[in-house]
Amino acid sequence: MIQVYTGNGKGKTTAAMGLALRAAGAGFNVYICQFAKGHLCSEHKALKKLKNIKVEQFGRDCFVRRKPVQADIILAHQGLEKAKKIIACKKYRLVILDEINIALKLRLVSIKEVLDLIKHTPKNMELVLTGRDAPARITKVADLVSDIKDLKHYYLKGIKARRGIEL
Ligand code: ATP
Ligand code: MG
Repeated sequence: MIQVYTGNGKGKTTAAMGLALRAAGAGFNVYICQFAKGHLCSEHKALKKLKNIKVEQFGRDCFVRRKPVQADIILAHQGLEKAKKIIACKKYRLVILDEINIALKLRLVSIKEVLDLIKHTPKNMELVLTGRDAPARITKVADLVSDIKDLKHYYLKGIKARRGIEL
């Protein structure tokens, strides 16, 4: 199954991490590949303690809001290649591509590459793609799309990401 968590509201990455926790509890192997962000988020520290969850980051520190450079493109492709291998090895039941939609928006990877990855995902594997602005070509092929709406967000009041809550 292909799942997409998108929209401007809070809860995309945390929903994916919650699913990772649930899957790990069921004894599944989980692979989390985070794109476009290189800073270590608190959830990684916690998830690393679980032996059936593997977390890796493929982004430079806090680059998301800046103009991408070649290194960002190389890192994103390394992430995609790794995810491809993980999917092909069939050892993992849940694979999460966190912020892949951001990587697409910044053109670090192409839609064609991501669609190809989706195409090669076995039916009994759960592939989760997160990030705002999911492209229509991705949501079209997904089995589940959650569009999280920001009815209210304290970010607009100037409250930036907080450790343990947003990062
Ligand atoms: P979470 O990880 O809490 O589940 P998310 O994955 O749904 O959040 P992202 O789009 O990955 O959300 O990142 C949100 C981050 O971007 C927050 O840390 C917030 O501080 C920042 N941000 C920037 N602009 C906005 C906005 N308009 N609305 C909400 N958050 C914003
Ligand atoms: Mg996120």
